Parts: sequence; C-alpha cells; structure tokens
Amino acid sequence: MRNIEINLGRVRDEIKLSAKACGRSADEITLLAVSKTKPAADIRSAYQAGQTDFGENYAQEAEHKIHELQDLQLTWHFIGPIQSNKTRLISRLFDWVHSVDRFKIAHRLDEQRPADKAPLDILLQVNIDDEASKSGVNAEQVLPLARQIADLKRVRLRGLMAIPAFASETDQQQASFAAMKRLFDQVRQEFPECDTLSMGMSGDMQAAIAQGSTLVRIGTAIFGARDK
Ligand SMILES: *Cc1c(COP(=O)(O)O)cnc(C)c1O
Repeated sequence: MRNIEINLGRVRDEIKLSAKACGRSADEITLLAVSKTKPAADIRSAYQAGQTDFGENYAQEAEHKIHELQDLQLTWHFIGPIQSNKTRLISRLFDWVHSVDRFKIAHRLDEQRPADKAPLDILLQVNIDDEASKSGVNAEQVLPLARQIADLKRVRLRGLMAIPAFASETDQQQASFAAMKRLFDQVRQEFPECDTLSMGMSGDMQAAIAQGSTLVRIGTAIFGARDK
C-alpha cells in the first residue's frame, strides 16, 4: 500500500477512536484532506483510497489542480485567507469556503457565484482566541454578520470555522474548542440550517472532536510534512 493510503487509514481510525471516546459516531465527522502545496498526483492517490473532500489555501495553486483533476468527482473547500481580488476565482472553483470573515467578502462571493452552480456553502471563520495576527471575526460579531449574510441568495451559511491559538496543553485547546461549540449552538438557534463546525487539524483533532467538531481539516497526517 502506498503512504497516502496508509496515512488515510490511520487518520480514519483516529477519528473513530476519538468519536467513540466521547460517545459520538464517526459518521458525524467529515474528514477534509488539506492538500495545499501538494501535487495533484497526491490528491489522486487519496481519491483512490476513498477520499473526496479536499481543502486548499491558495486560489491560483488550487485552480491548476482542480483543472488537472476534473475527471474526478471531488468536493473542494477553500480554507485560506481571502483577498477581495480572488473572490471571483474562488466562487467559480470551490464548493465550500471556510474562511469568510467580513460581509464584503460574502457579498462578492454571492454576486460572483456562477448561475449554473448551486449556492456556495460558506462558514464564518472565528478568531476565537482574539489573536492580533489572525484573520476571523470576533465572537461577538458572529451573529450580526450571520444575520447580514442570511439575506444573500447565492451563498448559504452552513456554520463556523476556527484555528485556535497554538497550545501544547490539551486543556487550553479544549477551552477554545468548547467556546466555539457554545458559539455554534447559539448560531444554530437562530439559523437551524447551520450544521458544520470546522475545527481540528493534525495536531489537535482529538480535542476538537471531543468538543463537537463536525469536520476536521487534516494535512500533514495524510500527505506528510510540507516544505513551505
Ligand atoms: C494547513 C491547514 C490545515 C492542515 O494543517 P495540518 O497541521 O497539516 O493538518 C488545516 N486548516 C487550515 C486552515 C490550514 O491552513
């Protein structure tokens, strides 16, 4: 078996174990394979091992790969910071965008979503630990932004995403993930169609799943370390 297939098997097992440990079903958790900086051939290998959802951070890099892999039925997620001059490309190429953090971006994605495609599924990226260096809306701004976005027809709000501050201690991670879960539940009271809480990466997926993540974004554990 090839590395990517073995790694995918391990990650799926870890998701199952983490889910079981907190009384959840692994079926509630989507595995997103983060393929940024990795070649299309690696994505093809992952697909052959049963993976269909892929995450990319850079619009132009993704454009080449998406083109090269057109023959496969893949679901593409944009998870990187969004510059407004890239929204047209993103809304044309992707099925999901996890990193919406201001109305201007949501509005542009809405206007630019091609008419022959289903509405674009979007998540609001939350800066849950209030880090100066990080993109994302502050927790208090999530509901007001969700209300503004709810009026748009070509984007569909599906939930929240977070990249918590780096924490080597599981307790700290748990606290950030737990805060995200509370916020997600609040949003769902007003927007019941929100069903996706995107949190957890290679180093912290167990903590994220324990706190209610419904989608984990895994790069390194599947494709190996990135050189850049
Ligand atoms: C790169 C990236 C990931 C994957 O990180 P790994 O540690 O390689 O699993 C997940 N989410 C976002 C937003 C990323 O940029």
